[in-house]
Amino acid sequence: MKKYFTLVSVTIFLITITLILYPNFRSTVINAKTIVAIQPFGEFSSTEAKIIQEEIAEFYHLEVTVLKPVELPKNAYINMKSSRYRADTLIRFLRKNMDSNYNFVIGLTDKDISTIKYSNKSTKKIKEPNYKYADWGIFGLGFMPGESCIVSTFRLKEKNFRSRFIKICCHELGHNFGLQHCSDKTCIMQDAAETIKTIDNVQLNLCNSCKKKVGFHKY
Ligand SMILES: [Zn+2]
Ligand SMILES: [Zn+2]
Repeated sequence: MKKYFTLVSVTIFLITITLILYPNFRSTVINAKTIVAIQPFGEFSSTEAKIIQEEIAEFYHLEVTVLKPVELPKNAYINMKSSRYRADTLIRFLRKNMDSNYNFVIGLTDKDISTIKYSNKSTKKIKEPNYKYADWGIFGLGFMPGESCIVSTFRLKEKNFRSRFIKICCHELGHNFGLQHCSDKTCIMQDAAETIKTIDNVQLNLCNSCKKKVGFHKY
């Protein structure tokens, strides 16, 4: 009996220490209580933010809130080829500024965003040709798993604008929720493979396997 109490006490102690040391520690699988925040940057359209709020809430069955706009952090700015903001830096900025009112945050910007594309992530070898991939313009980025992601409307042309935008937001959030790229051609988590056509061809849909992984089976 004494042994049992010691075990319980040690477990409670370890959980408390974890929560103190990692206040942002949260499950990466979503449930009905999960809250996603939208962080608009700069002059980002409040109408677009509102549409994305409704679409994400419907797609992932969770609560979505829109935060007050903030300026893009200056340390994310880069001008290698043109004026851009580093997506990785923006993701870290969003994560650092998170509060306990939400579990995940998606940043929205109308400025161009970019990242370094590696051929080998562990050795940090930049994909060839180097001039192209050292500052690679992207639609969005989300670490997997993670708590923050970023999507830019800069590269989205008029054609299919809204549907592209929604799909990319749901895709990047999917990465945050722990979803990898998916080989199912009907799934929003398939790899865009450097072309917008992939995004146009896929429906706004998660395949059953991705649904299960993300936690849809729980409700
Ligand atoms: Zn992806
Ligand atoms: Zn899938």
